Amino acid sequence: MYKIAITAGHYRYTSGKRCLKKLDKNETREWVLNDRIADKIEQLLKGYEGYSLIRTDDTTGETAVEVKDRVKKANDFGADIYISIHHNAGVLGGKGGGIVAYTYTKVSAQTTEWQKELYDALIKHTGLKGNRATPLAKSNLQECRETKMPAVLLELGFMDSQTDVPIILTEDYAEACATAICEVIVKRSGLKKKSVEDKRSLYRVQVGAFYVKSNAEALAKELKAKGYSATIKEEAVK
Ligand SMILES: [Zn+2]
Repeated sequence: MYKIAITAGHYRYTSGKRCLKKLDKNETREWVLNDRIADKIEQLLKGYEGYSLIRTDDTTGETAVEVKDRVKKANDFGADIYISIHHNAGVLGGKGGGIVAYTYTKVSAQTTEWQKELYDALIKHTGLKGNRATPLAKSNLQECRETKMPAVLLELGFMDSQTDVPIILTEDYAEACATAICEVIVKRSGLKKKSVEDKRSLYRVQVGAFYVKSNAEALAKELKAKGYSATIKEEAVK
């Protein structure tokens, strides 16, 4: 069983973590953008089997989960990969920006592979390459330092960039990010697509339901006369 830990950075009310008002009149909160992508990853992974997944943030966004608690949850779970989803700031209303993928300063070759593959897939699917000097960055981040498994923190565009804001607010962008992240998880972990049988459903057509048996019999007779096959199924009523 492959174990995946995903976190949507911050929480709904983290002060300052939001889109710049002059670029987004709604001042969309960072957690909302992070959560949308995390949700989409969960949805896309439902098409696969052989894994279990936890979110280490509060998925309602109502409580602030400290980084040390997120890390503990992932370590206790025994996650094989930890992916932290964020959006950036720092261009102060200017142009440029783009995606940055962080790891801790000293990491295994495996972690560096995750970082590069995630970054490459994100650029392939979103095109949000931006102008950062080091889009594959290393930093002394608590979340990446204290997690025992490979951990990558993704900054998926700048919330104060004229270039990035109109893009990162769209549903299509969130979908593209989730698709890219899911693609790398599936490839690296070897998850299998669920077989078609697992998803098969049976759809019944019902025409009527009666408390009086003779009414059901009359309708069945009428349907049969019209050439339909009709069966009466008796059910107990509470
Ligand atoms: Zn953040």
